Amino acid sequence: GAKTQGKNRWEIYDETRRARAVDRVAIASSLRQALRDDRFVLHFQPVVELETGLPVAVESLVRLDDPGRGLLPPSAFIQVAEDSGLIVPIGTYVLEQACRQLAEWRAAGVVTQSLRTSVNLSARQATQPDLARTVARALSQANLEPTALALELTETVLMEADTATLRQLEELREMGVDLGIDDFGTGYSSLSYLKRLPVSIIKVDRSFVAGLVTDPSDREIVTAVIRLGQALGLTTIAEGVEDVAQFTVLRELGCDQAQGYLLGRPVAGPPALPSGVAG
Ligand code: C2E
Ligand code: MG
Ligand code: MG
Ligand code: MG
Repeated sequence: GAKTQGKNRWEIYDETRRARAVDRVAIASSLRQALRDDRFVLHFQPVVELETGLPVAVESLVRLDDPGRGLLPPSAFIQVAEDSGLIVPIGTYVLEQACRQLAEWRAAGVVTQSLRTSVNLSARQATQPDLARTVARALSQANLEPTALALELTETVLMEADTATLRQLEELREMGVDLGIDDFGTGYSSLSYLKRLPVSIIKVDRSFVAGLVTDPSDREIVTAVIRLGQALGLTTIAEGVEDVAQFTVLRELGCDQAQGYLLGRPVAGPPALPSGVAG
């Protein structure tokens, strides 16, 4: 009857919930172990200047080298890392490794001396009272100038920033570190924080870029975001550029930089220079 069915449903739900909780505990403990074993790995995706087609930066993206399953993407572990607080030590590792890697490439002459790097910051990291000090340490350990680094934050994190966090962000900006809004257009829609916060970069979310050529409303949105960025003196970066038509439209619209599979997937090594161009 209905009662039995209801009970079964509950049991199934309860089982699933228990399995998920066990799963999360297992993931958290494997993240702790991965930190000890040094199994977080960075991949780097080129960010290209639209006018010249040259790489001007890389975005540093974390992966987890799992002994059984190979390289895992952030979607497999970032949420658990965030909820457990492990994102803080993982994030510090990412910052330090991103700076170290850029400095190594520059020293080896495999990238230009002006190439920069960007790192994603989670909500937990952004609210750490020693954020600015952690970033300053990562830079000085690698002997990198602060302008070599950009930090990417989401709209939600920026909207929720309290006075103490804002002070940290301002300190970073005063040091010369760039702050960017990641996935712009997908979070809260209030724009007042653009005026309030020391951001210098807007990254147009790839969901809008995906429809840029085929969907008139996506094209209007991308156009508006680029104009807004220009009006406020910000650098605009389009994410998720996958074909030449998107690239061409973005250049016509006056977008500054682009990132996406067309220009290069995230890889372990330095960005390739287009053929015929010397470093
Ligand atoms: P994100 O910061 O927006 O990074 C861009 C994501 O889009 C990357 O996925 C990248 O591989 C993917 N992507 C780049 N170009 C294209 C394209 O042309 N088409 C498509 N379909 N995808 C493209 P990834 O590496 O899996 O990272 C996913 C998200 O995980 C990142 O999104 C970021 O929010 C988060 N993440 C990555 N590394 C870190 C980290 O070190 N710390 C924190 N807190 N979050 C990170
Ligand atoms: Mg990002
Ligand atoms: Mg993004
Ligand atoms: Mg995105």
